[in-house]
Amino acid sequence: MNPAAVDIKEPIIQTTITERIPLSAGEERVLGFFPDAGLAEWEDWRWQLKNRIRSLESISGLVTLTDHEKRGVQGAGDKLTMSIPPYFASLIDEKDPGCPIRLQSVPQDYEFETTDNEMLDPCGEEKNSHVHGLVHRYPDRVLFLVSEMCAMYCRYCTRSRMVGDGAHSLNTSTYDAALEYIRSHKEIRDVLISGGDPLTLSDKMLEYLISSIKAIPHVEFVRIGTRVPATLPQRITPELMAMFKKYSPVWMSVHFNHPKEITARVKQACNMIADAGIPMGSQTVLLRGINDSPEVMKKLFHELLKLRVRPYYIYQCDPIVGSRHFRTSVATGINIMENLRGHTSGYAVPAYVIDGPGGGGKIPVNPDYLVSKENGRYTLRNYAGGLYTYYDPTY
Ligand SMILES: *Cc1c(COP(=O)(O)O)cnc(C)c1O
Ligand code: SF4
Repeated sequence: MNPAAVDIKEPIIQTTITERIPLSAGEERVLGFFPDAGLAEWEDWRWQLKNRIRSLESISGLVTLTDHEKRGVQGAGDKLTMSIPPYFASLIDEKDPGCPIRLQSVPQDYEFETTDNEMLDPCGEEKNSHVHGLVHRYPDRVLFLVSEMCAMYCRYCTRSRMVGDGAHSLNTSTYDAALEYIRSHKEIRDVLISGGDPLTLSDKMLEYLISSIKAIPHVEFVRIGTRVPATLPQRITPELMAMFKKYSPVWMSVHFNHPKEITARVKQACNMIADAGIPMGSQTVLLRGINDSPEVMKKLFHELLKLRVRPYYIYQCDPIVGSRHFRTSVATGINIMENLRGHTSGYAVPAYVIDGPGGGGKIPVNPDYLVSKENGRYTLRNYAGGLYTYYDPTY
């Protein structure tokens, strides 16, 4: 077993949470499939991880599967395994194959279709990786992959080449090599701890990583990339928050795709994170049939602002192998941006980016607001279509 992975056999740790959240009808229903478990287990992240829904048999009990889903679940093991924490499964609409939670978590056989221009490593991470688990693409910052495990495997995952419970290639010795690389590269001022999901590691392992990174004098900015606040909010415990607080400032990049993901438990988790002094930015993947409309995106970003989460990026879905059914046109993304900027709080407007296939990094894509530029005369269009001229003083 990967020594870095969480030991899900550890005894259940009861945590004190200020406010107990009653089970929703969906949670009651899913908990009913686990006759030996009660509220204490439901609130325990290790129980949630251990009891993730992974087989055709268990998902069929919860959801009336379509033929595409049946074939998808059967074949997914070869590629990216299905894995859904009971909590996240409780958000699935068992009767609606178009449910946004379901589309993200239950595989469909479209995943096995490969179209032109799709890649196994669309962001070209391997070629920017000089030490295993570390991607150094931009001069001043690195992506430090510390776990291959996630609570839930998102079907469009851009790192599906490396994530999965069976992939045990990251461990304390790869961590130490990566830490040594960061120590010896003085230009690195920003470390993004990601994976997989770093929050599937134990508190102890996370503390080892954060304290080691924070001890490097030239590192001034540390953030954790995680989807756990959405898929396994139980992981956000008072103990974990107290640990992060010791290493302040630490930022968090969370990952939310649909307003349906924002539940009472998620609100509580995000409040705990914000109260621990951790600023949050969110990343959203533009996904066909899930959030590809201005209305859904706006609702999501408004909900996030209420939780003190600043929408940071909308990603055009990467051309990962088998992602065709998730990808929208770029025009869809531009139209969403057009309907956000000026129409709602600037804080609710993230940057829309395409990760340049092959390793280009994040490249912003925007509606065209600059109508013309000549002789120092800039003609600009505002959100409502009005034209305005700005005279460049240096012309
Ligand atoms: C996204 C990413 C980062 C961080 O980029 P920011 O724009 O600073 O958020 C760093 N390294 C890699 C390889 C990335 O993909
Ligand atoms: S949480 Fe992130 S790394 Fe994990 S499956 Fe989802 S997109 Fe991939």
